[in-house]
Amino acid sequence: MHNPRRNRGHQWKTPAPGNPTTKGNNPMAELEYYQFPYMSDNYGVLIHSTTTGETAAIDAGDGSALLEALTHKGWQLTDLFITHHHADHTAGLAEVKAATSCKVTGPKHHSNIEGLDREVSEGDVLQFAGCDVQVIHTPGHTADMLNYYLPSESVVFTGDTLFALGCGRLFESDADTMWNSLSKLMVLPQNTTVYCSHEYTEANAKFALSVDPENPELRSRAKAIKQLRAEGKATVPSLLAEELATNPFLRVDDQGIREHLNMLASSDVEVFAEIRKRKDNF
Ligand code: ZN
Ligand code: FE
Repeated sequence: MHNPRRNRGHQWKTPAPGNPTTKGNNPMAELEYYQFPYMSDNYGVLIHSTTTGETAAIDAGDGSALLEALTHKGWQLTDLFITHHHADHTAGLAEVKAATSCKVTGPKHHSNIEGLDREVSEGDVLQFAGCDVQVIHTPGHTADMLNYYLPSESVVFTGDTLFALGCGRLFESDADTMWNSLSKLMVLPQNTTVYCSHEYTEANAKFALSVDPENPELRSRAKAIKQLRAEGKATVPSLLAEELATNPFLRVDDQGIREHLNMLASSDVEVFAEIRKRKDNF
């Protein structure tokens, strides 16, 4: 399946200036998306409304990188949405807030996030630039993890819950909890663009092939990913449809995977837990 967004991936090794702006799925939408790398393998995203001039960022792991991205685009930050408490998502929060006076939104039941102006939880619907932003609580990687979904844009920000071809490690919850969280994302429309927070896709593809070796869509996606990374391009964002077809953590009911794991009679959670355990030891 050809995915035109892939061609708009930025040059991984090039700093923010020069990176093209990515867009969501909705051609009528007024929002622009700008993804930029920071630290060793993180992605930040800016969302900008050309109509209202408002700009939001997802996470602030590196304050300087975020402020540089804003300067590069000439956008002024009005909102910061925090996914979870890990330092690679929050370490720049204070710096960014001081520099921009943005409104900071994050999890109500958080672990030690300083500087939140608004605390939200499952089911809350926020407004950004006239668009609904639905709050989805996806505990698993951390207990406080929130994902932000813009239904009118068909875009979801999955933090460290759902990765391209992977999912976050289970640091603060069990497999049952994470499977339940992923299940909430799996029922979003298939044409949803998935922005995750890390460029882990190539390593994830190697693991995915170890549990789902016969999947033709996975094999061709793995090849495409290898090529993109060799060219220094991002593999994020992806489409939910391609995750459903190729991400082994979402395919626990697949016969081929179950046969491969010798778990034909197991529950979905048991298969998910086994795949997660294998990935931890891969
Ligand atoms: Zn994390
Ligand atoms: Fe992270």
